[in-house]
Amino acid sequence: MSEIVLEKLPYADTALEPVISAKTISFHYGKHHAGYVATLNKLIAGTPYAGLSLEEIVRKSAADGAAAVFNNAAQIWNHTFYWKSLAQAGTGGGPTGAFAEAVTRDFGSADALIKALADAAVKRFGSGWAWLVSEKGKLSVISTPNAETPLTNPALTPLLTLDVWEHAYYLDWQNRRADYAAAVLGKLLNWKFASDAFNRA
Ligand code: MN
Repeated sequence: MSEIVLEKLPYADTALEPVISAKTISFHYGKHHAGYVATLNKLIAGTPYAGLSLEEIVRKSAADGAAAVFNNAAQIWNHTFYWKSLAQAGTGGGPTGAFAEAVTRDFGSADALIKALADAAVKRFGSGWAWLVSEKGKLSVISTPNAETPLTNPALTPLLTLDVWEHAYYLDWQNRRADYAAAVLGKLLNWKFASDAFNRA
């Protein structure tokens, strides 16, 4: 049976500095994200989940109410999506094509979209995620608690996410979640990734 693997980071561990330090990446990717992978593989060995894709495990465990499997599988998927949502400052481009038109139609501007994501990040009580999602081409911002993910809603296509668990920002920003959110959303978003995801949906 093939195990779930930890996907490689799409950039060097220093690429997001100074907003997200290599030290944060070393714990966030190297300990938290990697830990979810190791735990999930232990949990699913010899079960009907073994051999399924990560997406299938997330959806099946949600449907089954298998909380431990779901929490670890969804956190793996959410983190991989988070790393892909970010890019070294100056390399993420801007909204393009049909995605750019949807941003203007649904938010007014990319800056207004960033503000909506920042608001969702700050208002999410406790641990969780802020997301830009598309529903049949209509963009909106949502947030989810803990490991919850839009992947379990077949109507939604996730386009970008921001991790607002304290482990994502505490080493660099301590308790200042709003400052972390503003810096990441203002400087590190991978708009090309979002545009591609939107245009594929
Ligand atoms: Mn995290």
